[in-house]
Amino acid sequence: MSILKQAYQPEQFQEKGHELIQLLSQYLSSALTASSKKMIPWNTPKKELSFWKDHLQNGTSDTLFKTIIEHSIQLHNPNYMGHQICPPLPITALSNTLSALLNNGMAVYEMGIASSSIERIIIEHLAEHIGYKEQAGGFLTSGGTLANLTAMLSARKAKASEDVWRAGSGNKLAIMVSEEAHYCIDRAARIMGLGDDGIIKIPVTESYQINSDLLENYYQASIAKGIEVIALVGSAPSTSTGIYDDLEALANFSKKHNLWFHVDGAHGGAAIYSEKYKHILKGIEQADSVVIDGHKMLMTPSLTTALIYQNGQEAHQTFNQKAHYLLETSKDEDWYNIAKRTFECTKSMMSIHWYVILKTYGKQIFDEFVTTLYDLGNSFAELIDKTLDFEYALQPQSNIVCFRYKKSDWTEKETNTINAQIRQRIVEKGEFYIVQTKLMDSFYLRVTLMNPFTSEVHLTGLLDHIREIASEL
Ligand SMILES: *Cc1c(COP(=O)(O)O)cnc(C)c1O
Repeated sequence: MSILKQAYQPEQFQEKGHELIQLLSQYLSSALTASSKKMIPWNTPKKELSFWKDHLQNGTSDTLFKTIIEHSIQLHNPNYMGHQICPPLPITALSNTLSALLNNGMAVYEMGIASSSIERIIIEHLAEHIGYKEQAGGFLTSGGTLANLTAMLSARKAKASEDVWRAGSGNKLAIMVSEEAHYCIDRAARIMGLGDDGIIKIPVTESYQINSDLLENYYQASIAKGIEVIALVGSAPSTSTGIYDDLEALANFSKKHNLWFHVDGAHGGAAIYSEKYKHILKGIEQADSVVIDGHKMLMTPSLTTALIYQNGQEAHQTFNQKAHYLLETSKDEDWYNIAKRTFECTKSMMSIHWYVILKTYGKQIFDEFVTTLYDLGNSFAELIDKTLDFEYALQPQSNIVCFRYKKSDWTEKETNTINAQIRQRIVEKGEFYIVQTKLMDSFYLRVTLMNPFTSEVHLTGLLDHIREIASEL
């Protein structure tokens, strides 16, 4: 049999599949209990590259999956407190396999009969929890970055006085956003050709919220330059600090000036599911559009992002194109032909991950996940408060906490340098994973508590680990 035909044989798939599930189960049990000390197998990029070059030439394919696992960071380890990607629920690894093999391409209904209908159900579920009414709509897409760009394109379609889609850009357009917003908003504005003047960055308050008092001045200054402001973006929360903008104030301002109000809830929009924390999203129901990442706070694998519109028709109008081989023209809203509304053509069957969670465990699992992790953010701040040698930058509003190690006789400069060295040593040692950020030119260590198995034991362990590293420097 040809190698090609062999590669499709079900028997081989079954055998390899069993092996992989066994390996992943072993990974899970060791990661969840932090049973091996290393949770990130740090290597320099240069050495890691030569390892894989050598592996391709001389390695065995028998242990390939195992080798990849051994060379990867463990998100399921409770000492993983780094970036905002979640440890996905094991069941979604199974739905991901399903999506990979069925490979229903989703662009048109026939290429995703089940998954397109399921996608609509997920969007309706999210819309209901946001507080939207019946006319809401939306779709899933690959990542918050792409979803935010798409929302800005919808804003332009809805608000710009010229039809840029047809005429190309004439007037100068602009988007208002906090200076602390995720960089992808700035990127979206530049992709849209808006340039430096097209991204109006509003300073934050001392507590790192967008300063709503400054909106009017910045708005008027742009108008005076002949710029047409089309949208205002709120962060829920901003990535670096985990602080939520005052969405109600932003909604009011947007109404006053007829702006598109977009909420970037890539990280913390998921708090719509938390009975305890959903109050911080007050005002989100007034947004024209909302982005929520499943792969951050809703336990799905990457990339699964929802873009939900208060008025689903707006989603339908963003990309007004003909492609006769793919997209039929239709008067009514053919919600089931998803490529009409997404930037993407082909995409994965991402809706099934959300659905499998909802169907298997119920929506309360989302509440428990978000609430547990946001509680943990507060516990960590309390823990830091009790020490003499650590301080946090801001009282956390979510599971993101910025803090640093500090001795009373250190200058600001020394504190910055030492904390930067500490962060580098932590990664190299590989027992914990945390990241860093800069706030007002000061260097801070930053954790995002993404793992519901992280407890005070691990947090105390992290502080002790940092003290130990500091004493070695
Ligand atoms: C993570 C994040 C993004 C980017 O989302 P991706 O899914 O990584 O593309 C955008 N905005 C905010 C606020 C984020 O936290």
